[in-house]
Amino acid sequence: MKRPKIALIGGGAAILSAAYHLSSDFEVTIYEKGKRLGRKFLVAGKGGFNLSNELDGADLVEKYAPKDQMQPFLLAFGSDDTREWLKKIGIPTFVGSSGRIFPEKGLKPAAVLKAILDALEKKGVIIKTNHEFIGWSADESLLFTVDNEQVKIKADTAVFSLGGGSWSKTGANDKWLKIFSDAGVETVPFQPSNCGLNVNWEESFRTSHQGSPLKNISISFAGKTFKGEALITTYGLEGNIIYPLSAMWRAHHLEKGNTVYIDFKPNNTHEELLAKLGPEAAPKKYKSRLNLSKPVLELVKWSLSKEDYINSHRFIAQIKHFPLSIESMRNVEEAISTTGGIPFRALSPTLELHSKPANYIIGEMVNWDAPTGGFLLQGCFSMGYIVAKELNKKHEGLLRADI
Ligand SMILES: Cc1cc2nc3c(=O)[nH]c(=O)nc-3n(C[C@H](O)[C@H](O)[C@H](O)COP(=O)(O)OP(=O)(O)OC[C@H]3O[C@@H](n4cnc5c(N)ncnc54)[C@H](O)[C@@H]3O)c2cc1C
Repeated sequence: MKRPKIALIGGGAAILSAAYHLSSDFEVTIYEKGKRLGRKFLVAGKGGFNLSNELDGADLVEKYAPKDQMQPFLLAFGSDDTREWLKKIGIPTFVGSSGRIFPEKGLKPAAVLKAILDALEKKGVIIKTNHEFIGWSADESLLFTVDNEQVKIKADTAVFSLGGGSWSKTGANDKWLKIFSDAGVETVPFQPSNCGLNVNWEESFRTSHQGSPLKNISISFAGKTFKGEALITTYGLEGNIIYPLSAMWRAHHLEKGNTVYIDFKPNNTHEELLAKLGPEAAPKKYKSRLNLSKPVLELVKWSLSKEDYINSHRFIAQIKHFPLSIESMRNVEEAISTTGGIPFRALSPTLELHSKPANYIIGEMVNWDAPTGGFLLQGCFSMGYIVAKELNKKHEGLLRADI
């Protein structure tokens, strides 16, 4: 029997997982428009490479939206499976104190990518760079631009992972949305996720405090509270609690309003803070007795009338429940990830397009969301695995039918 041809289109995290997990019974070719594979994968490695997260099973699923649709992929290939896979190809990992999974110390992102590519080479996966997918021909062949020429490629099955809309220098952009919608596939516009938030700071505050951290704070919005650190930037706020907050804000600000509430002292109650101030605390003691940073003191002072500022009860109430109006989210280009793309309703449970059978969609192309901390790559790896498993199963079924 002739080896069925599988075209994997887009050289990102999800495709690398699919390529690895596909049976060697297939002739597998990765087509990537750029000169190299895994450019966003390498960017992800720059600020602490979270390959996955120690959460597994139901706890892992909890981190994703929509949960129901992501669940089968994450349960079939979870964080333990990712670690096992990476270990097999020579990339041992460890769990950091935050629960994030990193490659063993000393292993740079480029080494992780190289180990995956070496494993693919051993499996006989063909890699064709400089191939930009531009659509389908009338006979459902895949059309690419290669050195300004149009090339037609016939494959038995195509798996796409052309990425989300952010960080266009890594190759991901929104061009494919039009290609797919022109071909009759439902698409949803990209929106930023895991991104900074715009705040209309006073000019003097912006200049004095950009780059200052707001440590040990919590921010609440729409019934959720995020505890950790944020960073004051020229445009607003960034940082590890701002990313998950951005997703909540995107989902609920139209109904709940733009204001988020900061607790600058989440580890102390109102009464404890009052006790720290002492019975006759003058405002000039606020900073030292409550251990407040300069930007926090400034923010709170500006937000209160003089009368309220000198009243320690009202001052503390403002420290514990500081309203901050968010103007908007940062744009898609800057976001760590995006939502939008192809909705699950356009896909079968194993991610095949209803409107174009034998074409599968994985990774950030699909409309799902997860916070940072290793969950994005894990989602991509799990989707790559599930499609590979499905195609392996279909092929085995055909072989058995042949006997
Ligand atoms: C700054 C940053 C830090 C991050 N850090 C982490 C982290 O620590 N942990 C984590 O879990 N996640 C992290 N992420 C997110 C993670 O990198 C992505 O979710 C993941 O790489 C998405 O993989 P993908 O396969 O969906 O798409 P991508 O990796 O974006 O791959 C898509 C590929 O398709 C190619 N392509 C696009 N159009 C075409 C076309 N028409 N024809 C052919 N090829 C095409 C692109 O060139 C690209 O190579 C980070 C992201 C960013 C931006």
